[in-house]
Amino acid sequence: MIRATCTDVIVRRLQHGEDLLIAVENVAKEANVHSGVFLLIGALDKASLGFYAGGGRFRPFNIERELEIASCIGNVADEDARIVVHAHMTVVDSDGKTHGGHVLTGCRIYIQAELMIFEMKGTELKRKIDEASGLHVLQA
Ligand SMILES: [Zn+2]
Repeated sequence: MIRATCTDVIVRRLQHGEDLLIAVENVAKEANVHSGVFLLIGALDKASLGFYAGGGRFRPFNIERELEIASCIGNVADEDARIVVHAHMTVVDSDGKTHGGHVLTGCRIYIQAELMIFEMKGTELKRKIDEASGLHVLQA
């Protein structure tokens, strides 16, 4: 178990055409946040999500149309001195149908998205490969 304090909140509007996952990583790097949690809402015109298939692999699927990001949550941690973002997301299409999963690169921001990263102080979140599952698991 880890106990930490959330201190600063970094707020950034992501721009049309940006890759969601890469943009969150870049904001964390720019703000020097190595441990934190984040929330994001906005819209996409392409979602790339994954469903865990075992053995450290995700079955990827794409949705290529305008989507509302109903909820995107995740965390920021270090793995081998590299900032790693882990996020899950639920998106909604124009019929109100939802899709969700593990966020992969390739989620393209449509118009804009609002990102808030809550920096954690008093701890260092770390990820490490778990040989049994093949996943990069949080050390907590
Ligand atoms: Zn995941």
